Amino acid sequence: MPDTKVTLDQIVSLSKRRGFIFQSSEIYGGLGACWDYGPLGVELKQNIKNCWWDFMVRSREDVVGIDGSILMHPEVWVASGHVAGFHDPLVDCRESKNRYRFDQMLAYRHPSRHDLPLFAFMEDNPSPAEAKIKKMAKGAGLEEFEVIPLPNIAEEDQARVIGPDATQPGTLTKPRQFNLMFKTHVGAVEETASVVYLRPETAQAIFVNFKNVQQTTRMKVPFGIAQIGKAFRNEIVTKAFIFRSREFEQMEMQFFIPPSEDEKWYEYWREVRMNYYVNQIGIPRDTLQWAPHPPDKLAHYAKAAADITFLYPMGWQEIEGIHNRGDFDLTQHSKHSGKDMSYRDPETNQTFTPKVIETSAGVDRSVLMALCSAYHEIEEVGEDHKRETRTVLKFHPNIAPVSVSVFPLSKKDELVDPSKRLENELRGDGLRTSFDVTGSIGKRYRRQDEIGTPFCITYDFDSIKDQSVTIRHRDTMEQERVAIDRVSEILRRKIREWSQA
Ligand code: ATP
Repeated sequence: MPDTKVTLDQIVSLSKRRGFIFQSSEIYGGLGACWDYGPLGVELKQNIKNCWWDFMVRSREDVVGIDGSILMHPEVWVASGHVAGFHDPLVDCRESKNRYRFDQMLAYRHPSRHDLPLFAFMEDNPSPAEAKIKKMAKGAGLEEFEVIPLPNIAEEDQARVIGPDATQPGTLTKPRQFNLMFKTHVGAVEETASVVYLRPETAQAIFVNFKNVQQTTRMKVPFGIAQIGKAFRNEIVTKAFIFRSREFEQMEMQFFIPPSEDEKWYEYWREVRMNYYVNQIGIPRDTLQWAPHPPDKLAHYAKAAADITFLYPMGWQEIEGIHNRGDFDLTQHSKHSGKDMSYRDPETNQTFTPKVIETSAGVDRSVLMALCSAYHEIEEVGEDHKRETRTVLKFHPNIAPVSVSVFPLSKKDELVDPSKRLENELRGDGLRTSFDVTGSIGKRYRRQDEIGTPFCITYDFDSIKDQSVTIRHRDTMEQERVAIDRVSEILRRKIREWSQA
């Protein structure tokens, strides 16, 4: 079983302490489900985006990129189905004043005692309801409660339901549909004609540009269009730190294919995307799983879909969706815009509307996954022989905010000047560097371990004479002495080989 000992509280506290992630508008009390990335967080995030872009676009001949605008013509969202169908069912509790997603609620009930209350809970937090039911079961000498989805409970029994944070039955409202798109207005007058939406996904900018991109690049189907960008959803239930935010970033790719090839490409992209997380981001395979969407739960556009899920502290949760979208989107945009979205194959002369395989991943969920996966607490004997805990983020070097930190052993110019020169050289070779002269070397190692720097270099008094430095490896704590003029080459090779491991 994979190691899931890290808690979300540990990640939140490290993120704030070391400047990875802060609450948005913190000095005003924050704004729900909006987050700011600090100096280390933005590096981690940028590295994750660069990795994705290099892997999905730059290293491939059959994928090109775009950067679409966030505000689009409102008809786009009518055609895509978002105006009519991008809803979550919402339930309010009159007692606790909390708000819940009805489709994520379950309830404990006794199969035959219809006089007893039912205890509702959110699927990711059964404990409060369990505590309540145990108390009642003990008093009444009852066992064998069953768990059923709240939407499956008959109308007449809803009055017996006690909400997740309530003490009395019957305080939950009926579910209402709530559209997740943020609305705003263009121009000076707030009238209906000027309504626009903050895009809830980046995919639609790709679909509406299919012809522009295909004609200007003369790409031949099958080919893909990729994009990284912000998306906005007015989520009802947020929680879980950056996992479910109202403003987030997506990394999406739509792969346009001949109609008869969808099953083949669907399988292909599933495999490519799963391997990507293991090989490029360094996520252990046993902490990743497939969660196929059951046929009756597929989105309106999808023919088949499966999520890649990661074992977060709050359980297995989606990081990326792979969808066989058929030709739904191009057909819809063709209908609504009146523009032809078909493609003529130059070799066969056949004209068809391509089908699409989509890979849709979250940047922020990737950041959270990287932090959770990398977080380790290691017990060891410290400098003054006391047992202490060392926090280490074991990031893959592809995404570590700092690749190498350089330490002169003392603050004397004879050590500081040449070690600064070495740092500049390493930076010039494309490594992400930092420089630290404060505190003992042990303390400096700990500071770097806590932010996930894979290599540290110490420049000491012997370095002046033998033109060598000590490289210390984060994960093994091994140290090796190497010639200064070989440091850059050695580090870059180690990073490359790490990618291939
Ligand atoms: P969920 O079921 O968790 O709400 P979803 O199925 O609605 O997610 P998609 O519409 O498939 O998500 O979006 C693709 C990806 O975008 C998701 O896999 C996720 O990584 C990311 N994503 C979606 N909603 C959010 C959000 N509110 N906050 C952060 N990332 C998100």
